[in-house]
Amino acid sequence: MSENFDVVVIGGGPGGYVAAIRCAQLGLNTVCIDKQVNSGGEPSLGGTCLNVGCIPSKALLDSSEQFHRLNNQFAAHGIQVENVSVDIQKMQNRKEGIVKSLTSGIAQLFKANKIQFIHGAAKVVAGHTVTVTNNDGVLTDTLTAQHIILAPGSTPVELKSMPFNYDTVVDSTGALNFDEVPERIGIIGAGVIGLELGSVWNRLGSKVIILEAMDKFLATADQQVSKEAARQFKKQGLDIRLGAMVKSVEEESGKITLTYSKGEKDHQEVVDRVIVAVGRRPATEGLLSPDCGVSTDSRGFIEVDNNCQTSVENIWAVGDAVRGPMLAHKSSEEGVAVAETIAGGHGHIDFNTVPWVIYTSPEIAWVGKTEAELKEEGVEFRSGSFPFAATGRAKAMEEPIGFVKMIADKKTDRILGVHMVGPHVSELIGECVLAMEFRASSEDLARTIHAHPTLSEAVHEAALAVEKRAIHKVN
Ligand code: FAD
Ligand code: AMP
Repeated sequence: MSENFDVVVIGGGPGGYVAAIRCAQLGLNTVCIDKQVNSGGEPSLGGTCLNVGCIPSKALLDSSEQFHRLNNQFAAHGIQVENVSVDIQKMQNRKEGIVKSLTSGIAQLFKANKIQFIHGAAKVVAGHTVTVTNNDGVLTDTLTAQHIILAPGSTPVELKSMPFNYDTVVDSTGALNFDEVPERIGIIGAGVIGLELGSVWNRLGSKVIILEAMDKFLATADQQVSKEAARQFKKQGLDIRLGAMVKSVEEESGKITLTYSKGEKDHQEVVDRVIVAVGRRPATEGLLSPDCGVSTDSRGFIEVDNNCQTSVENIWAVGDAVRGPMLAHKSSEEGVAVAETIAGGHGHIDFNTVPWVIYTSPEIAWVGKTEAELKEEGVEFRSGSFPFAATGRAKAMEEPIGFVKMIADKKTDRILGVHMVGPHVSELIGECVLAMEFRASSEDLARTIHAHPTLSEAVHEAALAVEKRAIHKVN
């Protein structure tokens, strides 16, 4: 095919597919090119997020959480269960079913919005032109466009000292597909992905050892939140070792020896599987021909300004392959903003209000600045916190764990950050994002009626606590 479009979108993940849909809604003739295939080798839209990221991980987190509850929490409710077992294949099939239904949903949305979809690997060449090759490397399409949106996403970082063998040494994708519960798992990296996948297999019965090079646990989160999370993870049996730099992996007779340094000494740990979760890098290899003019930085990230404009006019880039957090909702918001800018509007993204969530148990969520960041910036603030243990709902749910902390500007009372660890906080953070979007003060939230009994009362009480007037705790 050789055709001219208003917009060519490269990548069908949450950055690319959302951009394509918004472009089509705004009347732009749009094509989206994506190379992802599912386990059956068929094209599968939705990118990392739907195929091997957010969705399958949450499916397994939910299944494993049910199992954990059955074994550990039901008794407190007076419910006796015996002979509980897990059918991993069935659990995996459920996960695959969810992925399939969501990815095919994107294909249907493309059809309904008259977006053309081309399966293949795209490359940007000079003259606002994009070439597409199939799996055999054969050129199938040459497209020209007024605008090109790059949304190639990211791929797992591989360590030279321990290359993936996709069987015993795996990336996050491999860790989502284990067909049995390994006895002992070593996870390298205590970031979001390491903690979520570690939780899944720990709950299902593996002994999980997480080795993290940094001395601080969840360094970017509020330090009280990190401390409480670490305490809860320890109780669950997750063995997290900080300051542990993994140096090598050796496999012999199906057993893997991990060598790591901690302090002055080298240590070893023998495991059955290793999950390497040391971060992700932009998937820009082979995407840009040298003459296309789009610049990348030394780590391969596409360089963009605040509006996601690259170094070439009318070539835009969004999502994991550009600066900022590697989060699906951040990618999608950038996609929408770029589509609206292209159509003549004013696309806008507020990077101060991007929520972060870690879907462990308890969940961790935050938006805005931490106290440490504000101290470093010299901003004066007041903060108030409230424990879930003092809310009726968390007690009724048998989950009286964690707290909500709200931080507000000392002079203006404007909310600068909210940090939470506890039950379902992924669902509570939205209220705080909205409050910050609307430039709310802590008093605004404190004077908002929250339904009783709900977990959201902890947010309300944290807002009251900023002024030391929480009702259900001593201030
Ligand atoms: P991607 O989703 O990576 O999509 C890019 C697409 O472009 C892919 O389909 C890729 O094959 C395709 N592509 C790349 N290059 C080309 C090319 N040259 N030609 C054609 N196609 C190309 N984020 C959250 O917000 N919440 C979560 O709970 C969460 N959980 C996660 C769990 C795991 C295990 C992982 C790995 C990630 C998780 N993430 C989560 C991160 C999230 O998946 C990413 O931030 C998000 O998918 C990025 O979207 P994107 O559109 O930028 O890129
Ligand atoms: P994230 O980027 O949030 O997914 O987290 C990845 C984590 O892996 C970071 O906290 C790194 O410090 C950690 N990490 C990277 N390399 C190693 C290594 N060789 N050994 C242990 N931890 C590592």
